Amino acid sequence: MSQYPHLLAPLDLGFTTLKNRVMMGSMHTGLEDRPWHFSELAAYFAERARGGVGLMVTGGFSPNRAGDLLPFGSKLISGWQVPFHKKVTSAVHEAGSKILLQVLHAGRYGYTPFNVAPSAIKSPITPFKPRELSTAQMYKTIEHYARAAKLAQKANYDGIEIMGSEGYFITQILNARTNKRDDEFGGSYENRMRFPLDVVKAVRKAVGPDFILMFRLSMLDLVDDASTMEEVIVLAKELEKAGITIINTGIGWHEARVPTIVTSVPRAAFVDATAKVKEAVSIPVIASNRINMPDTAEEVIASGKADMVSMARPLLADPEWVNKAASGRTNEINTCIACNQACLDHTFENKRASCLVNPRACHETKLIYSKTNNAAKIAVVGGGPAGLACAVVAAERGHKVTIFEARSEIGGQFNYASKIPGKEEFRETIRYFDTMIKKYGITLKLNHKVTAGELSSGDYEHVVVATGVKPRMPKMEGIDHAKVVSYQDLLANNLDLGKSVAIMGAGGIGFDVGEYLSHEGESTTLNKDAWMKEWGVDITNTQRGGLVKSDMEPSPRKLYLMQRKASALGKGLNKTTGWVHRAVMKLKHVEMIGGVNYDRIDDEGLHISVTKGEQTDLRVLDVDNVVICAGQESVNELFEALKDNPTFKSHLIGGAEFAGELDAKRAIKQASELAASF
Ligand code: FAD
Ligand code: NAP
Ligand code: SF4
Repeated sequence: MSQYPHLLAPLDLGFTTLKNRVMMGSMHTGLEDRPWHFSELAAYFAERARGGVGLMVTGGFSPNRAGDLLPFGSKLISGWQVPFHKKVTSAVHEAGSKILLQVLHAGRYGYTPFNVAPSAIKSPITPFKPRELSTAQMYKTIEHYARAAKLAQKANYDGIEIMGSEGYFITQILNARTNKRDDEFGGSYENRMRFPLDVVKAVRKAVGPDFILMFRLSMLDLVDDASTMEEVIVLAKELEKAGITIINTGIGWHEARVPTIVTSVPRAAFVDATAKVKEAVSIPVIASNRINMPDTAEEVIASGKADMVSMARPLLADPEWVNKAASGRTNEINTCIACNQACLDHTFENKRASCLVNPRACHETKLIYSKTNNAAKIAVVGGGPAGLACAVVAAERGHKVTIFEARSEIGGQFNYASKIPGKEEFRETIRYFDTMIKKYGITLKLNHKVTAGELSSGDYEHVVVATGVKPRMPKMEGIDHAKVVSYQDLLANNLDLGKSVAIMGAGGIGFDVGEYLSHEGESTTLNKDAWMKEWGVDITNTQRGGLVKSDMEPSPRKLYLMQRKASALGKGLNKTTGWVHRAVMKLKHVEMIGGVNYDRIDDEGLHISVTKGEQTDLRVLDVDNVVICAGQESVNELFEALKDNPTFKSHLIGGAEFAGELDAKRAIKQASELAASF
């Protein structure tokens, strides 16, 4: 009997059966836009199909040029494109899975000056004001959806998903806030539903009955003046009547100011909204957002709140997710930590997506962990993300690996990251590496600060130095004062700081320390109801858009977050997550000060000069503590002592090699590439 009987049960759709309840949701990888990338796209999907996933959905393809997400973005508009898509569908079918093509019209989210929308209203997240479509063009667009579906059928897709959520074109039509039309597609809700329903009818007519039609329905818009659950349910029922096979969940428009997928969102946070729709229709309904581990997924289905789960990023992180869950190897799952750093952040920077914990994602044909015929003896010094990734990939390939770690536990700086409220998921990465160390028989020497002499006598062929970083302590008067602590002292020793604290440095770690010091009690990421209150989410969606007043507890202590740059604080944080950190600091009433010069620290507190334009003000912040988050320096003395040793080859990776702009994405990628080369 499987541990996850509901999750792994087949789903009978009448004309076809899905082998389990796991769907890999749509994600734009950057491989969809150019035909010459389709072989790589096929390899990417095939790897996930072999990993056991029951159904998958491609990234979005526009039904016409006007619906482009990006200039020359992915679209399915002509027969010449069909053979390229067939590479994907045959790879997936050979591997025993099914795949849908997502049809996505971006509407006013199109990042092009030629974008169109139901009304000429610019979105707050794009620079281009859209052109309003005429009534005739609306009808033409419906035909384009049907054409895309027909082409998808020719390319042997098992169906299509119509993107009707996240604030794209169809949601723009459905909502009065973006639809001011006075023709038959505007005005009453009945009129606003006309477009999606006509699309579904036209598509169904074009493809016949035995083709999966999925609709991604916005169940919670999380923007003002948008749909209520009552309206969502009316639409869901009409979609069922019009010929939809499965309804998938969409949560929040891209312009919403409530986080919906970042790591601090509780697991399966929005499943109760899905449950409301499921109660109202008789076709299968899929739950989505922040479902990343089998226990959560099983619970969602077993509770009857949904028939399937959609996971996108978790299958980037681990293509074998389903097979591992099915064979009782849940602990071996390389969990998606919802950091967005290599997937969505890349997409928004117009770069190919990948994954922080799995740099092979979307590089399946290039980064290959083949079994070695020439097992080498390898020492890895440092059990942080870089050392662990290098050790595990090398051992998986058949090399004989020993890790030396100076501390009593593996994980390096990730141990500190996982102590930040809202970053609990980071612990999963350490758990994954721990499981892999055991699985591949890696020798782990904890509490072992290894010396150059010991390594020289160890008969190694390769020594990988991954000794990481230490906090930078700025040279200034009073830096040795008893008030001063580094972020590392604070987090490693769970120090209890005073009622007033200054944080010096506002990079990723400064903001994280701000979160740590401004939260009290249980992290709301572990308590769905408390989290909903903090962010002002009405999960019943009785209030339009599902928004109520946010009720974030202010920080229990006076906090100052500072940087020397005059620019806005947090500007350099990651694109898709930085806004959440900035919003939390504001809601917690943390005082953020830029353009600071740190003059000295003494019994009175922190003396600073703040320059704004021509004017410089002197201030004394009467604080009990000053936490230093002023960047990091490499720990690489060992490498200096080893690099000329003729008995083995030395390698320097991760923070030990270069501390500037270091993150775990770079550390793990560099380490995995090195291990693939041995
Ligand atoms: P480290 O993590 O520093 O690991 C080095 C290891 O080597 C340590 O365990 C150390 O004990 C060991 N060592 C050193 N010398 C020796 C020796 N001589 N013998 C044996 N062992 C030795 N990154 C992100 O990408 N995203 C985030 O959201 C993020 N959040 C963070 C939040 C916080 C609070 C912190 C502190 C860091 C965060 N980071 C984040 C940064 C990330 O943790 C680092 O980039 C990453 O840990 C660097 O990996 P590393 O292996 O190079 O070094
Ligand atoms: P960082 O992002 O480089 O920030 C360092 C901060 O210290 C800046 O605010 C900098 O601003 C200040 N600073 C630098 N030198 C200083 C000095 N001599 N005196 C005083 N202040 C100084 O580094 P970090 O915050 O240490 O983070 C390390 C890495 O971890 C980052 O690269 C980041 O990617 C990663 N990380 C990521 C996340 C995430 O959410 N993605 C979270 C945490 C950490 P001024 O120079 O303007 O003062
Ligand atoms: Fe998940 Fe981060 Fe990987 Fe994206 S980059 S798939 S969010 S672990």
